[in-house]
Amino acid sequence: MRGNGRARKKALAMGICIFLCSGNTGCFPSQKGMEESQRGSYPETAVSEKKEQAELDFFAMNTYHTFSAYGSGVDTALEEARDRVLELEAKWSATEENSEIFQLNHGNGEVISLSCDTADIRNFTLEIAEKTDGALDPTLYPVLTAWGFTTKENQIPKAAELQTLLENTGWEKVSSEGNQVQIPEGMELDLGAVGKGYAGDEAAEILKEKGITSDLLNLGGNVQAIGSRPGGGSWRLGIRDPSGEGNIGILEVSDQAVVTSGNYERYFVGEDGNTYAHILDPSTGYPVKNGLMSVTVITKEGKKADALSTSLFVMGLEKAENFWRAHPDFDMILITEEDEIYLTEGIRKTFACEDPAMSKNIHIIEKGT
Ligand code: AMP
Ligand code: MG
Repeated sequence: MRGNGRARKKALAMGICIFLCSGNTGCFPSQKGMEESQRGSYPETAVSEKKEQAELDFFAMNTYHTFSAYGSGVDTALEEARDRVLELEAKWSATEENSEIFQLNHGNGEVISLSCDTADIRNFTLEIAEKTDGALDPTLYPVLTAWGFTTKENQIPKAAELQTLLENTGWEKVSSEGNQVQIPEGMELDLGAVGKGYAGDEAAEILKEKGITSDLLNLGGNVQAIGSRPGGGSWRLGIRDPSGEGNIGILEVSDQAVVTSGNYERYFVGEDGNTYAHILDPSTGYPVKNGLMSVTVITKEGKKADALSTSLFVMGLEKAENFWRAHPDFDMILITEEDEIYLTEGIRKTFACEDPAMSKNIHIIEKGT
């Protein structure tokens, strides 16, 4: 295994880099692995406009976003798209006292009325939780807190503590009817695995309504690549090498969301010297360690790409392959600790390794095998 050592050294990391023009790189800095001091150097919101092109950076949902768009009226369109993301954050934050999710999590088991946005993401998340046999479970917040992933005070919880906390988890214990929802006292909902993807769809929709047909939205590494890049041609996204510096390959996309989940960004090294990362196996409460380093999902909808990348990461290689064969309406790139790259057949021609020597590590997942 060459992977872990190299990857763990990275403080700045990201899943996807973006190539606006062939051969010209424009890497967006990672939000997930960024130190607080570095965060401070970013403007809270900045708009820069050149003719028919605008770019807007802002912080939301615990991460940095960069929206770029091309066409007339892009500046106001981007601001509206940003405002929509901020609106959703205000509803879904697990830490803001006025958010619907906070009210639900601190409602002592009371029935709570949700806005349509929150009811909609609840429905979608529960649907994927069921479809993935609970690999996606939005009720792990107290377990994530025990590991310190919600507070940044990381520690290894005792096995007994995890067992007790797991008694209060389980997506199937969420009761919902229409816009109402109820969770047992002690349970807490967390939309961290799906919210950015959903917000990306909403932002993209706003730009589309404004007639903007060429835009690239990067929500903390979740990318929505709409239309084609200025001058024509597909967008070229760099897929991060999860166990090293730079990119492992380039993916060409148009009108797709591209979302990566991995264990190489938000993690800590415990007192026992082992590394523990932020995606948990809902059946054990422990961070997933199954030989995968990253999972990238490519599909039309950001919310689906986001939910599935987390779920497939939890499943591991074999189950993820089986899941895809049963539901082949998306593409994926799975990268293992041994730097083996597994691609679904739909992207065999649109993904290429940066280092041609790595091409021998590519395995194509086909429907029929
Ligand atoms: P992502 O980066 O989209 O893969 O989402 C990871 C985030 O989702 C974590 O930081 C947690 O907040 C949360 N999470 C961790 N494990 C799970 C899981 N098995 N199901 C749902 N959410 C999870
Ligand atoms: Mg996700």
